[in-house]
Amino acid sequence: MIDLRSDTVTKPDERMREAARTAEVGDDVYGEDPTVSELEARAADAVGTEAALFVPTGTMGNQIAARVHTEPGREILAERESHVVKYELGGFAQHSSAQVRMLDGGERGIPTPAQVEDAIVEESLHRPGTGLLCLENTHNAKGGVAIAPDEIAAVADVARERDVPVHLDGARVFNAAVALDVPVTDLTEPVDSVMFCLSKGLGAPVGSMLAGSEGFVGAARRVRKLFGGGMRQAGVIAAPGRRALENVDDLERDHENARRLAAGLADVDGFDVREPETNILRVDVAGTGLEPAAVLDRLRERGVLASEMGATAIRFCTHRDVTDAEIERALEEIDAAMAG
Ligand SMILES: *Cc1c(COP(=O)(O)O)cnc(C)c1O
Repeated sequence: MIDLRSDTVTKPDERMREAARTAEVGDDVYGEDPTVSELEARAADAVGTEAALFVPTGTMGNQIAARVHTEPGREILAERESHVVKYELGGFAQHSSAQVRMLDGGERGIPTPAQVEDAIVEESLHRPGTGLLCLENTHNAKGGVAIAPDEIAAVADVARERDVPVHLDGARVFNAAVALDVPVTDLTEPVDSVMFCLSKGLGAPVGSMLAGSEGFVGAARRVRKLFGGGMRQAGVIAAPGRRALENVDDLERDHENARRLAAGLADVDGFDVREPETNILRVDVAGTGLEPAAVLDRLRERGVLASEMGATAIRFCTHRDVTDAEIERALEEIDAAMAG
């Protein structure tokens, strides 16, 4: 099977397994796991923050951020197709007692400064007050859109001028940086906190990082405990995560593969292919006359896995465990599947 469902399917390579095997460990809830501490220091350094916290999942990282930044009853501004709105089970309501005000970020999933300005409400006898603005980069549901530093800064500045903190769901923020050819710090500098995943394109088996100021990360450490995410000899999983941080430059190859896949699929009858900006390729299949699920079945029969993306589209996601040759083979198989 050529698995293009997600970059989360990557498996730890030999170096990661060896790093896990030989990791020095301690009880991280006591702050005594040197491997976790080193990963946290390196991650903070990578995104240009004072500190960072190792968390089991990206979802937990986002949820901790909301809990730290807001108070119960506040509003959180988030893009309507964002992961925090669509795929985190209403966590902001459940864990932070917050109300979400959704903004329509259009084709690229980024609200305008005017939209943010209009959506911010001051606390009063009648109004809840805005507690947080949450942005996403790359934007997953819009098809791995890489949002540029000036676009992030423009909306973040509006919020921060009104004393509203900004959290970046940067699950794939390194994909954005590589695609835009900018230092990742250009994308993280305008915000107060950032979460990024080690377990996606970077290839680690588990883990994400939540980064921000010393004060923020101190508070986040306490909320991680509250959410049941205090881990003991976590160096065993932090060690592959540290290796994953060295894989950033390899993301360019995934992006090239996504472009090659896009170029090849453009010739398939009924496929409307969106030019990929990073490693996610969105293909509208309405023109085939088939439901996305039926298209996926046909591909599966030929050994290619992809996933559904909305009512009429499917998604291919390239990653470090698919070779260039497998991309070529996937193209041939998809061609055959759709011709048949
Ligand atoms: C994958 C993802 C997350 C959550 O990460 P998990 O580790 O799966 O919980 C959050 N935001 C975005 C944009 C993602 O793609």
